[in-house]
Amino acid sequence: MQFRLILGFGLVLALTIGGVSWYVGFAANRATERYQQDVDIARAARLEHLVARNYTAERGWVGLQATLEQAGSLYGWRVVVNDTEGHVVGDSDVHSKDGFERAGRARRITPILSGGRQIGFLAVGGSDGPVPAADPPLSQVVSALNRSLLWGGLAAGTGGILLVSVLSRRVFRPVRKLNAAARRLGKGDLTQRVPGKGRDEIGGLARTFNAMADGLEKAEEQRRNLVADVAHELRTPLSNIQGYLEAIRDGMLAPDADTIDTIREQVLQLTRLVEELRLLALAEAGALRLALEPDSVQDLIRRSVDAFSPKAEAEGLVIGLDIQPELPLVLMDRERVSQIVGNLLENAILHTPEGGRIAVSAKQVGSGTVEVAVTDTGEGIRKGDLEAIFERLYRVDPSRSRATGGVGLGLTIAKQLVEAHGGSISAESTIGEGSKFRFGLSVAEDANRELESAQ
Ligand code: ADP
Repeated sequence: MQFRLILGFGLVLALTIGGVSWYVGFAANRATERYQQDVDIARAARLEHLVARNYTAERGWVGLQATLEQAGSLYGWRVVVNDTEGHVVGDSDVHSKDGFERAGRARRITPILSGGRQIGFLAVGGSDGPVPAADPPLSQVVSALNRSLLWGGLAAGTGGILLVSVLSRRVFRPVRKLNAAARRLGKGDLTQRVPGKGRDEIGGLARTFNAMADGLEKAEEQRRNLVADVAHELRTPLSNIQGYLEAIRDGMLAPDADTIDTIREQVLQLTRLVEELRLLALAEAGALRLALEPDSVQDLIRRSVDAFSPKAEAEGLVIGLDIQPELPLVLMDRERVSQIVGNLLENAILHTPEGGRIAVSAKQVGSGTVEVAVTDTGEGIRKGDLEAIFERLYRVDPSRSRATGGVGLGLTIAKQLVEAHGGSISAESTIGEGSKFRFGLSVAEDANRELESAQ
């Protein structure tokens, strides 16, 4: 990456310097040419003036040859003067007597005037060609300029590439660190973190990487805890069953109805745990199939309360109902929502002392949601625990819950089921006063509209 950056930069630099040199060289050449032309024109005009003055002073062409030779050698030109009849009257090139007419090589032919009368022609040409070469010093200036440009460009290019190498090294250092950390993370070292202080994109990437590593580490820890907790939860009823069976085999315990009931309790506890884990696995994998149908949540609550009332009464508790009249139908999987309400009621009964009160309420909030709440006047939950009770296998008081069959999956499953319905579940609680759990279900808009139009 760094190499490619340097290569790309070098290429851009070479193109820029090359382009600028070429353009400056081209422009300098053109300017020189134009300047040379202007100089030529001025010199030719001066020469014409000289020849005309000579003619006027001498009343003829006497002394012209010497002037032309002087001018010719001074300017590096060949200068020929013809009279009006076309005879060569002077030629800077003493060896050639044919003038320009025959060769036809004159670059510029202008009439010579004296006192307003034409007295001849002045023909000018290069000493070795039709276009005189630029004066050597001027062309040298252009090539010197080109050379300077080339050296300057090379120096700037080398400096630029050095600078890019140093800068890109600095820029890519965190990327290299990130890459190494990601490689080690991929190999299973989840403690890998990178410094993420920069405010730029790479700093942002580093922070995202760290957050991802945090998440992975936490998930890994949860997975490890889950396996350990499940193993523990399975071991307790299994060792109980084993103990009972060994006692029966050794003749220490009679295999009567009571013993069989106790063993059956343990088996049921195992079955419930396995079933809860299966449901949780399905829900977490997003593979839980819900049979969503427009249904009456009011009816469902009544049935749940009826089912739990005997158990509540046995504990000296009353379950009250507070359902808003004419609740709209909601979209729900009846069996799953019964399970949610059942879990909440079971917890409320378990954690409310004798004489307490439990209430199940349902009301519409906003236009699209029906909120169901289970409130109790029980022991309450501490703030610290409140944040964790929806986590897998979390129990506020592990010994007590295990004794009563709960393994800390009830609320996790309730949360998953509510979320599978597209809603959310929350809890609020005050120690010694009681707790309130509530969740929302979506109103079945179409079904309610049909119901209204049928009425
Ligand atoms: P479990 O299946 O063991 O009951 P849950 O996931 O249902 O586990 O509940 C987790 C923890 O939340 C329980 O250990 C319990 O202490 C606490 N809890 C749940 N409901 C209530 C409630 N209504 N009042 C007080 N504590 C509660």
